[in-house]
Amino acid sequence: MSLLPWCEAPFARLRQLREQGRLGHAWLIAGPAGLGKLHFVRELARWLYCKAPTPEGACGQCQDCHLFEVGTHPDWLLLQPEKKQLTVGQIRELIDFAHNTSQRGIKVLVVAPAEAMNLNAANALLKILEEPPPATVLLLVSHQSAQLLPTLRSRCQQLTFTLPEPMQALAWLRAQGASDPERLLSKAKGAPLNALALAENDTLATQEAVLAQLTALLTATVTPIQAAKICEKFAVQTSIETLLSVCQRLLRTVQAGLALDAELAPLLERLRAMDSATALVRLLHGYQQQVQAAYKVALAPNNANALLMLEALFGGWVKLRERLRKTSR
Ligand SMILES: [Zn+2]
Repeated sequence: MSLLPWCEAPFARLRQLREQGRLGHAWLIAGPAGLGKLHFVRELARWLYCKAPTPEGACGQCQDCHLFEVGTHPDWLLLQPEKKQLTVGQIRELIDFAHNTSQRGIKVLVVAPAEAMNLNAANALLKILEEPPPATVLLLVSHQSAQLLPTLRSRCQQLTFTLPEPMQALAWLRAQGASDPERLLSKAKGAPLNALALAENDTLATQEAVLAQLTALLTATVTPIQAAKICEKFAVQTSIETLLSVCQRLLRTVQAGLALDAELAPLLERLRAMDSATALVRLLHGYQQQVQAAYKVALAPNNANALLMLEALFGGWVKLRERLRKTSR
């Protein structure tokens, strides 16, 4: 059993209800992404299945623990979107599963994230909430529970996860071996699992490298090939995702006059000094299209040479700079 530290109190609450026979049949597990709600749900299921549970969790020794561990527990069903949506067909599968007799004791059915259900799917799910089959617990995991049908929400008991105390999150990040956990946690807006993901995929380092190159290219202190060589060591997809995000954030700011995050402010200041907002928007749109096309190539299997790709994209950024200077003359 390995509960995340900030999941211990919610677990204790459900454990107590279960021991009192008051767990109920449906829970909405709500709260922001990046807190490990799905992990929590797995640990809860493991404990519910376990034939020799302790207050701390599942025993890890019995046959149910073993079946769950290897992913073949017959009473576990996790529905996740195949593409972006959870369809009515998937919910029907869940309903059929729920109405079959439990093979070992209690069935745990999980929908994650619940907001991925389309309207037909959500309406289909309502039926099972109205007439719950015996020995079944339905867990709806939701990062944005306000988007769910009010009738769905009202038929579930709610367990809401909130951001952990920074001290606790930082201690956990340190224990995972993350360096500079303060910065990671702040970038992830307080969500520890997202902070760890930033560290593990080098995402943060990639973003910083790409942004630094974009800024340097505007003042021609590096060439596109030099910039590409610096960023080549990172995953090319992450580099291109950063470029896309920069384009989107700059366009949103210039077009809507929104406040810019501090990270992009120096870049935008330089761009604005070069030309009018109209020219900037037009050229940024053009550049965004180039980046989007490259992203498709990067996602394809056996994608093209990362160095060449980055060089072309940084070259496109230099062209944008040159065109801005021309229109202002
Ligand atoms: Zn067990």
